[in-house]
Amino acid sequence: LLGAGVYLDYVNNDARLVIENIKEADELGGLMASHVKVVGVLHDDNGRINGVKAKDLLTDEEFEIKAKMVINTTGPWVTKTLGLDDKNGEGEVIRPTKGVHLVVDSSRLRVPQPTYFDSGIGDGRMIFVVPRENKTYFGTTDTDYTGDYKHPRVEQADVDYLLKAINNRYPEADITINDIEASWAGLRPLLSGNGSSDYNGGGSNTGKVSDESFENLIKTAVAYSKDEASRGEVEKSISSLKTASAEKTLSPSQVSRGSSLKVGDDGLITLSGGKITDYRKMAAGAMELIRKLFKELFNKDVREVDSKKLQVSGGHFDPTNVDETMKFYQKIAMDKGMPAADAADLANRFGSNTSRVISYADDVEAAPGLTLADTLSLHYSVNEEMTLNLVDFLLRRTNYVLFHKDELMMKKDAFVDEMARIMEWNEEEKVAAAKQLDETIAESSLAYLK
Ligand SMILES: Cc1cc2nc3c(=O)[nH]c(=O)nc-3n(C[C@H](O)[C@H](O)[C@H](O)COP(=O)(O)OP(=O)(O)OC[C@H]3O[C@@H](n4cnc5c(N)ncnc54)[C@H](O)[C@@H]3O)c2cc1C
Repeated sequence: LLGAGVYLDYVNNDARLVIENIKEADELGGLMASHVKVVGVLHDDNGRINGVKAKDLLTDEEFEIKAKMVINTTGPWVTKTLGLDDKNGEGEVIRPTKGVHLVVDSSRLRVPQPTYFDSGIGDGRMIFVVPRENKTYFGTTDTDYTGDYKHPRVEQADVDYLLKAINNRYPEADITINDIEASWAGLRPLLSGNGSSDYNGGGSNTGKVSDESFENLIKTAVAYSKDEASRGEVEKSISSLKTASAEKTLSPSQVSRGSSLKVGDDGLITLSGGKITDYRKMAAGAMELIRKLFKELFNKDVREVDSKKLQVSGGHFDPTNVDETMKFYQKIAMDKGMPAADAADLANRFGSNTSRVISYADDVEAAPGLTLADTLSLHYSVNEEMTLNLVDFLLRRTNYVLFHKDELMMKKDAFVDEMARIMEWNEEEKVAAAKQLDETIAESSLAYLK
């Protein structure tokens, strides 16, 4: 061994990051809507965008939302959303790729800390193995995706690829599909026609061109030297070379993780591409543009918020003193009679909102089959986090489906009963909610491949 390197990254709960941003925006005066889909765009008499047509996916009711400024931030759906707007002009082209993660019990694959290595498959990609909440998860894959955007699924080929990479590095673990307790698949909103590499590897964009266009260029250049081709024809061969280098020769892992901000012909703003890591930077750029447009178009001054200093909901404390703050909130929960582990879990999930969550104990007792922490989380989440169904709560507001499947199987019916009580569901609605949850668990645990 001649040396070693340390790769610095961080672990992030993406669903909680999104909901805490939404809650902060609500606190600051925004109007939030969940399970509402944009189905059309509205224009004024001059053809400028002035709102959207929206549909409530729970009731199928359609309604209009009027706005001076409309921004399209629909990630992988950006191109589809632009397709709703016939006055936008040339749009952004997204090339979505699918990424998969698989979860096993930590007893099957124990790593002391997040670990990052070459896939060993000769594709130049890297794989992460991450310990989390008594489980270990690993991934990811990076493959072009053209299927149903709403429902990317883990396929056998994804499992084969990841198990091959893992068992290559940890042969003694000998992980099989039966060890996989949970999984998830997501789509990356990558910008097409833009090359770069990132943490997933894939090598740098070497600028390689296809054999076909290389030969075409040489042929045209030779013809030019004999006065048999014009300068314009040579230039055309050179510019089509560029296209070949940017589009056709890129593997999914080489497509840019960069972002793009554009204003269409009718004023629709589109912010696309990027990564979670860049979200504040992307948002700050978009807000700068929006402030400029408000001034130019409506002579309106919009207050600037410093994104670097803005704390999201649950994060209103001294960021240099996280450990002490978590202990403080854990103690508040323990004072209500919660075991230390449940109290620590609440403090970690809700941060400075923990006292608000705990305040529900004034009116609510532990529901049959659930802990007090579960019950208070559920009540808080329905009332203050727009939880509308059990999948919202058990997959996106908490990690039950992904990292506590064993515990969830014991508490599932109790969650259905308590949610039905809070939402005043009738028997039919309750059965439908339980079915939706069962299907989510079955899919996440790859029942269809086992
Ligand atoms: C496997 C995987 C690993 C990744 N790893 C990392 C990483 O390590 N670090 C990192 O920084 N980034 C990572 N990313 C990238 C990151 O997750 C994405 O870049 C980021 O989530 C994109 O956010 P977004 O808001 O643009 O899109 P999304 O999160 O996809 O949000 C788009 C939203 O628009 C909604 N929408 C679509 N159409 C409509 C409509 N008509 N009306 C209303 N709403 C609509 C969708 O429901 C969705 O909620 C990873 C992605 C994947 C898939």
